[in-house]
Amino acid sequence: MMYSSDPMDQSTGRAPADTLMNYPDSHCPSYYAATSNESPEYPPLRTDVRTDVCVIGAGFTGIATALTLAERGYSVTVLEQHKVGWGASGRSGGQMVGGLPSEASLKKRWGDAHADTVFELGYRGHTIIAQRVQQYGIDCDLKYGYIDVALRPRHLEQQKRWHEELCGRGMEDHLRLVAADELPDVLGTDKYLGGLINNRNGHLHPLNLCLGEARAAAGLGVSLYEGTEVTGIEHGSRPVVTTRQGKVSADFVVLAGNAYHHLEPDRLSGLVFPSGTYILATEPLTEEEVAQINPLDLAVCDQNQVLDYFRLSADRRLLFGGGCNYSGREPRSIEKAMAPRLRRIYPQLAHKRIDYAWGGKVGVVVNRTPLLGRIGENIFYAQGYSGHGVSLSHACGEVMADAVAGTFERMDIFSQVPHRRIPFGPTVGGYAVALGMLYFRLLDLL
Ligand SMILES: Cc1cc2nc3c(=O)[nH]c(=O)nc-3n(C[C@H](O)[C@H](O)[C@H](O)COP(=O)(O)OP(=O)(O)OC[C@H]3O[C@@H](n4cnc5c(N)ncnc54)[C@H](O)[C@@H]3O)c2cc1C
Repeated sequence: MMYSSDPMDQSTGRAPADTLMNYPDSHCPSYYAATSNESPEYPPLRTDVRTDVCVIGAGFTGIATALTLAERGYSVTVLEQHKVGWGASGRSGGQMVGGLPSEASLKKRWGDAHADTVFELGYRGHTIIAQRVQQYGIDCDLKYGYIDVALRPRHLEQQKRWHEELCGRGMEDHLRLVAADELPDVLGTDKYLGGLINNRNGHLHPLNLCLGEARAAAGLGVSLYEGTEVTGIEHGSRPVVTTRQGKVSADFVVLAGNAYHHLEPDRLSGLVFPSGTYILATEPLTEEEVAQINPLDLAVCDQNQVLDYFRLSADRRLLFGGGCNYSGREPRSIEKAMAPRLRRIYPQLAHKRIDYAWGGKVGVVVNRTPLLGRIGENIFYAQGYSGHGVSLSHACGEVMADAVAGTFERMDIFSQVPHRRIPFGPTVGGYAVALGMLYFRLLDLL
């Protein structure tokens, strides 16, 4: 099935009120939804249940947590307001990027004490994904190969530092610095000043990964409920998670709603920017075009704060993503907003039809340190991966499972970091998001 070139109302050319939140009963129209593997429908919760652990949200964080817990023998119930993979996980660029976005500041805070753990966490998700793809036979187009590309001289300096640091970690066989004059052969564009290839990173079909992991979890006895919005959590020695038609009483609750949830506002509101990012998928490229623009099949990410990221799909489409709404509002047409960015890098693809355009919310944290922690003794949360969530959410799922088992060592590396709260309510907070985006854009322009 082919969706329209833009999930917009074609008769008016206007975007629906909020593309990022529309389609409650299905995945948003995207290349991923159109190419998703067959997956079971999970029923809504219509009764009261008891479980060891109740997980709220069925994106990568929730499903990875549930699967790890099930592998360790816990009974787990997952509640998802829409569908498995409906949020950022099923919409993402699919770039499996290692390293924590705030690695430098975490190292500064903790010194050598946690340097190894922080580094290992940055790539732990890669290992978990590879293991699960193999163990559960998940067909999600997992491939290795990734390049950071520089737009400013300072990005080149950053690449040299990263190269040195990663070589110091024994990763030299995975890395290659690419000079500007070699880049047209590697990426078919002269827009970048240099690149750092990291073949430990890679790319995948995120919705199929999430659906496959959910199926694996269900196979291990995890109870999944879709169309089940959590309306509140009653705290206590045995917390109770409430929904419209049923309740779940659990020993532990794991909150995995990321940029899409409003639960536990006293503790969590204003800590994550729900920042919009958008992706275009072209019609399939010819083999000659692929050989010209990305012969190594690399996932590509520029080093701006408000960045462009792109890669090829398994069926040779260019999936081109980026942040484009500095107002904090939806663009009226994702295609119109994003196509100039694509054409700036690849004018030779300007004639290509755009088959899909979609967007989603990334949970960005002001200091880029993922928000992991606990509320009382038995409610845990993990969110705010600032654009690194494909891999990091999997590592954090394991950290959540450790917390359920009473081990907080890795969680506390994050939970003890102080965070700045975006002030005021959701409306004024929206302006704060816009100001934040503007700030990051200005940093890029400096
Ligand atoms: C367009 C886009 C491109 C991206 N590209 C990349 C990339 O290339 N690489 C990368 O590493 N990261 C990328 N990211 C970020 C990455 O996708 C996220 O960090 C990651 O998927 C977060 O997973 P999650 O499970 O925490 O959140 P989500 O996938 O958003 O899942 C949260 C789930 O919780 C559910 N939920 C919320 N509230 C409730 C409630 N009250 N009751 C029940 N359920 C609830 C939601 O419906 C949702 O399904 C991208 C994000 C977007 C939007």
